[in-house]
Amino acid sequence: MINHVLDSMNEVITNNYDANHKAIDIVASDNSEPNIIALKGGTVKTVVNNIKGTNHKSKGLDTYGNYVKIKQTDGNTALYAHMKHGSITVKEGEYVEKGETIGTIGETGNAYGKHLHLEIQNKNNIKENPLISLNENSNDSNKLINVQKTEEKTTSNSSDSTLNNNHTNPTTNNLSINQVSHNYKSNEFLSAKKYTHGSIVDALKSINMDSSYNYRKKLAKANGIENYHGSYSQNVKMLKLLKQGNLKKV
Ligand SMILES: [Zn+2]
Repeated sequence: MINHVLDSMNEVITNNYDANHKAIDIVASDNSEPNIIALKGGTVKTVVNNIKGTNHKSKGLDTYGNYVKIKQTDGNTALYAHMKHGSITVKEGEYVEKGETIGTIGETGNAYGKHLHLEIQNKNNIKENPLISLNENSNDSNKLINVQKTEEKTTSNSSDSTLNNNHTNPTTNNLSINQVSHNYKSNEFLSAKKYTHGSIVDALKSINMDSSYNYRKKLAKANGIENYHGSYSQNVKMLKLLKQGNLKKV
């Protein structure tokens, strides 16, 4: 099971985490308007609930439209953006349980199409790939994975325009839901579930991958581990992802 963020439990990723978009965008696979539920328990830090509509010229925090920021008990901070005007049901200072409804998916701020923009900031104030949190309890068969931006998108027809959820560059994201699900590929991630020791180098070797410093640096960057210099904590983090099968390939 993934950790859900929609009460409809049919999350599909429409926009990946990368250097320019340190978040993921999520819709319901039936393009419905589900409620957003808390990924993890935590304390509500910020609520903005009074933004009426879409504003593609907005800057800074205004790009989020209506949003909720939750400081989770695991130490990470989750930000849920573009929520429907007036839909937010939680208050600043309140403790929210994992799975509790916090509002409804919407299109406020700098959004194209209804979607949830989810950011996870870790203890070191680094925005890491939210897939790490979403997939932490899942196996290969039910893992949520990045949408594949392939040539197949040219077969999209214009009726899929409601799925243009990329708020940073709408022209690059014409994938229909069917294409998204056909493109599910577990080879997007590296996995060393059988490796039981404590070395990232040996773990990479055990799956016949490049274990050089330079490759690890690239892997670190792709997985939200900033300024990789081979420190113990960075290596432990990378190893944990690898053992979970959640280490994004580069
Ligand atoms: Zn986004």
